[in-house]
Amino acid sequence: MTDTSLLLGKDIWHARLYTGEWQAGTLPPAEVIEPATGAPLGPLALADAELVCRSAADASRAQPAWYAMPYEARAKVLRTAAVLAEAHFEELVDWLVKESGSTRNKAAFEASVTIKLLHECSGLPSRSQGEVLPSTPGRLSLARRRPLGVIGVISPFNFPLYLAMRAVAPALAMGNAVVLKPDPRTAVCGGLVIARLFELAGVPRGVLHVLPGGADAGAALTSAPHVAMIQFTGSTGAGRKVGEAAARNLKKASLELGGKNSLIVLDDADLDIAVANAAWGAYLHQGQICMATGRILVQRPIYARFLDRLVAKAKTLAAGDPARSDAALGPLINAQQRDHAYRIVQAAQQAGATLEAGGGYEGLFFQPTVLGGVQPDNPAFREEIFGPVAVVVPFDSDDDAIRMANDTEYGLSAAIISRDVGRAIRLGEQLRTGLLHINDQTVNDEVVNPFGGVGASGNGSSIGGPANWEEFTQWQWMTVKGEAPLYPL
Ligand code: NAD
Repeated sequence: MTDTSLLLGKDIWHARLYTGEWQAGTLPPAEVIEPATGAPLGPLALADAELVCRSAADASRAQPAWYAMPYEARAKVLRTAAVLAEAHFEELVDWLVKESGSTRNKAAFEASVTIKLLHECSGLPSRSQGEVLPSTPGRLSLARRRPLGVIGVISPFNFPLYLAMRAVAPALAMGNAVVLKPDPRTAVCGGLVIARLFELAGVPRGVLHVLPGGADAGAALTSAPHVAMIQFTGSTGAGRKVGEAAARNLKKASLELGGKNSLIVLDDADLDIAVANAAWGAYLHQGQICMATGRILVQRPIYARFLDRLVAKAKTLAAGDPARSDAALGPLINAQQRDHAYRIVQAAQQAGATLEAGGGYEGLFFQPTVLGGVQPDNPAFREEIFGPVAVVVPFDSDDDAIRMANDTEYGLSAAIISRDVGRAIRLGEQLRTGLLHINDQTVNDEVVNPFGGVGASGNGSSIGGPANWEEFTQWQWMTVKGEAPLYPL
């Protein structure tokens, strides 16, 4: 029987994906797993490459009518999706907690920013779509922004709802159709929930497809002839492959990739505040965040005291089942991710780092870990860990901090803590990152800001706020004359 109080009852999503209707997948179903317990949550429909291509073709047929709708009608779909998400807030939070291992606070934050994003995007259709250009007398010359057509969105597991929605919502608002391929580990909260919100909000059939699948389905999207652009969020390794395929197929590609982000603590910082920032940046969502504080660079005069307090703090934080406790940390997403973090913690010690706290795990629950005395040749200094590991590095001068923070192929986020804002700004000016925060830690997103990295953290694209216009539209130059001229040839 249908439970009408739920956004996504199991009669809707069990073994079904969304192509404008809820239908069976084209591969044997997978199982949705609760990482904290290993319990199955229900069968997940999966799409193969052929279905991905069929959906892209279907979306390209549906897109022109969607773009031709009155702008108020498109705005209303986005607004209604926001209102529905508000009404089902607790259900969204529950899914994020169970399926992605989020703590309740992280899940509530993610659901809230997603709602804010939907409201923001509902304002896009009514904004100015371009400019009037100077031209020869009697000629009207316009630069106008038009949708690209079909946008393929490939999204990751860590902030599954928000990171998929931050592409889906603005792309739809600007008149594109979307084929979303969420990560199969979080395909309900990062995909099927989104399909259901927009279905109930009245998105026309065919304009949105949500196809859970693995790398093969993602690769199919990057070569599907009807897809004009790929918006990819995930690892740098997979992003390179997506970028290569998109270039070969002449698709626009927006790549939001990994990071190894420095938090620089200067010698005049308030120690308790600096420690609170470092712990938040390193441990939030078990460190599984692209902007996670991957290095904590601490100036030598306060290094020992900072380390002591961070260790004390780490020892007060426990990892536990977020659905059944109020533990500060939840589980890692799977054993592969846990083993990756554990391998780096072991290698770091062999390379000379000291294990100051944690370092072990039980099941997928990784202890909040502190590594001290880390040097630039240490794997913990270089590799993205994506686990709850605080990597603490001493430095001497401001120039040393700049050199160390820039000593990475990545360039996503950086942060500086100091009572001397002028000094912090001077230092920050020399950091090579897409996001820079003075007197804060590295994990920040307010929805209305452009978000993107440099170097191996992206391909120069940004998403969010003012950047969405560049991201999800394409310029058309259009001129109008009262009469066609008589050319002299
Ligand atoms: P991942 O690259 O393994 O997977 C991300 C998505 O890409 C998934 O949907 C996956 O199925 C798909 N995919 C994998 N290989 C593919 C291929 N060859 N072609 C097409 N699609 C493919 O990433 P992950 O390990 O699950 O996520 C963590 C990574 O994502 C970290 O490196 C993190 O820093 C990064 N990330 C970046 C941002 C950002 O905004 N910059 C945000 C969140 C996560």
